[in-house]
Amino acid sequence: MRKTCHCGETMTMKLRTVIYSGKVEIDNVPIFSCTTCSRSEVIPEVKPDLTGLIAQLGAEPDKGTFLFNECNEWADLLVEAKANKQQPELHEVEALIEQRVNMLLDLHLLAQSLDDEAWIADINKRLQQISRRKLHT
Ligand SMILES: [Zn+2]
Repeated sequence: MRKTCHCGETMTMKLRTVIYSGKVEIDNVPIFSCTTCSRSEVIPEVKPDLTGLIAQLGAEPDKGTFLFNECNEWADLLVEAKANKQQPELHEVEALIEQRVNMLLDLHLLAQSLDDEAWIADINKRLQQISRRKLHT
């Protein structure tokens, strides 16, 4: 997965630790970064959840560490993709998305058959996160 930087070079996808308020470490945040001009940006697909997490932490958070991939389906998928390959191609990530969506839909059916509303809500949230798939090429 790549994106063209403002400077014209190619930005590559990385998983980075974001430190919030100097106290809270948020690990495995997917970003695009440019080695030429050092610019980096959080990938747009995960931005709403990252800002949501930061809003939850509030202005004076307790010291702690979060694994972003545990609260965001996209980050989780990219952690998996990068475990296979340092710089996964778009089509490889898309294949993983399709697998993940199928798995979530199976889980959804199971959760429905068990009438487990909390679980259904959790799966719905994960499906929503992953359907933000305006991928850059
Ligand atoms: Zn650049």
